[in-house]
Amino acid sequence: MTAELIDGKQAARSQRKLTTDRAAELNDEPALGILVAESDKPSRAYAKFLSKRGKKIGLRVDATTYPDDITPGRFAEDLSEVQQGVDGLLVMRPLPAQLDPAAVDELIDPRRDVDGVHPHNVGLLALGRPRFIPATALSMLRLLLSTGIELQGRRAVIIGRSPTVGKPLFQLLLSRHLTVTVCHSRTKDLAAVAREADVLAVAVGRPHLVTPEFVKPGAVVLDAGYNWDDDAGHELGDVHPDVAGTAGFLTPVPGGVGPLTTELMLANAVEAARGLAGLSTEVV
Ligand code: NAP
Repeated sequence: MTAELIDGKQAARSQRKLTTDRAAELNDEPALGILVAESDKPSRAYAKFLSKRGKKIGLRVDATTYPDDITPGRFAEDLSEVQQGVDGLLVMRPLPAQLDPAAVDELIDPRRDVDGVHPHNVGLLALGRPRFIPATALSMLRLLLSTGIELQGRRAVIIGRSPTVGKPLFQLLLSRHLTVTVCHSRTKDLAAVAREADVLAVAVGRPHLVTPEFVKPGAVVLDAGYNWDDDAGHELGDVHPDVAGTAGFLTPVPGGVGPLTTELMLANAVEAARGLAGLSTEVV
């Protein structure tokens, strides 16, 4: 079998058009604020990229850098100031060691929380009535839906249980009536568990961890992996490309989950500006 590749770039283009139309309906230009640590080059580069993308859809992106040795008190003041002037706020990770990630999540106004990390938004998603959904998990669901396969009652296995990808994806797939297993670093017989999946979603951060022996023939395989490889000159997925010989559908890396994730993050900011605060009604 040769898997059909799920075109994340095409999905991203469609989303971009929708978001552009919605941004144009607003009286004021919507704005997304980003906070990023001074020495965090990859996050600064991503903030710059979001800024460029934002321009294309009519979204202003204000990226603010803060010194790595900032005190928690000063960080809270800066965050509060930035978020008053924007519709959506994104705090890039990783944070410097002196900033407690859980405390930072709670500083974000839940109605501006485009990353869906505030406990309020995490709780709403768990209750099946989401407001902001973390963009990577939402991207994976959207690409899964684009295959058109029947989902109810199918077996899903997610490898990875992070708060921003694996766990929210668990909630989304459960809402779609799949039977979902979540695996992690201490799961035994990982390949055997994965092989039970009609839908296998991978968000681990280990290049090419998932090989054909993990995959049930014909399964849908969704790969969130983004592992930069200097030799290749591009990112590698968590799924080995040879899986295309076994899977029925596969999100490629690059060109799968990543491009749509970016557009959904920006879309969340525009939705916040429209007062709808999230894309929930369209996905669950
Ligand atoms: P993370 O917070 O580091 O979580 C990784 C998860 O994988 C953890 O639950 C960990 O288990 C599990 N894990 C690690 N090694 C494992 C192994 N050998 N077998 C089974 N499970 C294992 O990572 P993340 O933020 O979710 O990101 C995951 C990947 O997605 C990364 O490549 C990241 O760059 C990428 N990503 C992509 C996008 C995008 O838009 N494409 C966005 C965000 C992230 P424990 O919980 O037991 O430690």
